[in-house]
Amino acid sequence: MSRSVSEIRKDFPQISDDFVYFDNAATTFKPQSVIDAMTHFYESKNANVHRGIYDLSEEATELYENARTIVRQFVGADDSYEVVFVRNTTEAINLVAPGLDYKVVILGGREHHSNLLPWLQNENIVVHQADANNDILKHPKLSTKADILAISAWSNVLGKETRLNEILNNSNDYCRIRLVDAAQWVANEKISMNNIDLLAFSGHKMYGPMGVGVLVAKKGLLEKMRPLYWGGEMVDTVHRATNSNWHHTSIEAQMADIPQRFEAGTPNVAGAVGLVAAIEWIQKNGYFSDEKIALYKYARNKMREIPHINVLPGNDIICFTIDGVHPHDVAQSLNEDKIYVRSGFHCAQPLLEELNYGPVVRVSLACYNTKSEVDRLIIALKKVQKKMGIE
Ligand code: PMP
Repeated sequence: MSRSVSEIRKDFPQISDDFVYFDNAATTFKPQSVIDAMTHFYESKNANVHRGIYDLSEEATELYENARTIVRQFVGADDSYEVVFVRNTTEAINLVAPGLDYKVVILGGREHHSNLLPWLQNENIVVHQADANNDILKHPKLSTKADILAISAWSNVLGKETRLNEILNNSNDYCRIRLVDAAQWVANEKISMNNIDLLAFSGHKMYGPMGVGVLVAKKGLLEKMRPLYWGGEMVDTVHRATNSNWHHTSIEAQMADIPQRFEAGTPNVAGAVGLVAAIEWIQKNGYFSDEKIALYKYARNKMREIPHINVLPGNDIICFTIDGVHPHDVAQSLNEDKIYVRSGFHCAQPLLEELNYGPVVRVSLACYNTKSEVDRLIIALKKVQKKMGIE
């Protein structure tokens, strides 16, 4: 039996009835268990990893390396995949884009800037992007064989891409590597790695800590990928070359195995520990997918009853505008009622522009949001309208 929302709310120390937090697509709150796991690490397990042969360092290393396995299993990846810890989704994609050899990339049509700009930095490749319909399979340029398809599973503006499976299943016909941006997927639904070679997500959007993210990748691809950062921890041996001297230093470095090769410098061990606690929290409590969809539906229907509100499509997120009111003014007015929403382009400006929208207000829910919070939003929105004289 799943726990009630009021029970769930007690797990999150920052949750309070004093305010309403509706910016979960930007980052979620953290359960006490995540905070405790990280505090415990810093209180009693802190040591650098992979370096010491003393007990404490070995314990920290074990925690960190176990986290890799737990994360891999959490997304349902078998041992043909490896987990690379990064800072966030953005860093994961910035690691892959310059790291692999390829000529043609196809991008989904609903991409966050993080799955758009990294691919555009290489002038020697061709980038095709689908339109907002995400009709990748009908894209005219796709008769040309591509190397990589990079697509988000869940847009932070339009919500879930319900045809993701179909798109990925058919992608074998035209590309050899599939990268999925799972930033918004990971907290909302059980992930399946079917037809996915590379998966990127952030800990902070799934009740975990900021500063830790994940690239789950086919080992074969990692073997071919160039590292992004160089330095300590990612090499096995570093020698001055025999002909090296003061004027012409030459170094011979032997890279470490995967995944260490991609994790130069001291990693975010406490972050990995916190991420494991977030995974455990989700595994114990579930994703609340049906509850969230029902709450979105309730909110959307209530909003549609209010004149001059335009709600964008999408079942698992709400983006909207109010005629004649700038979204920042809407967000600011809601803030006065202690309702926290995001306004702007949500790092998906080309998508919004294609949909003929400018900035929009976004309401994004998590497992701890309630119907009465939505009711507060509706009352506050009516107030905004009244204030702006557009009833
Ligand atoms: N992709 C999507 C779909 C997102 O929603 C976000 C965050 N808004 C990102 C990528 C980037 O995530 P991060 O800022 O954690 O790197």
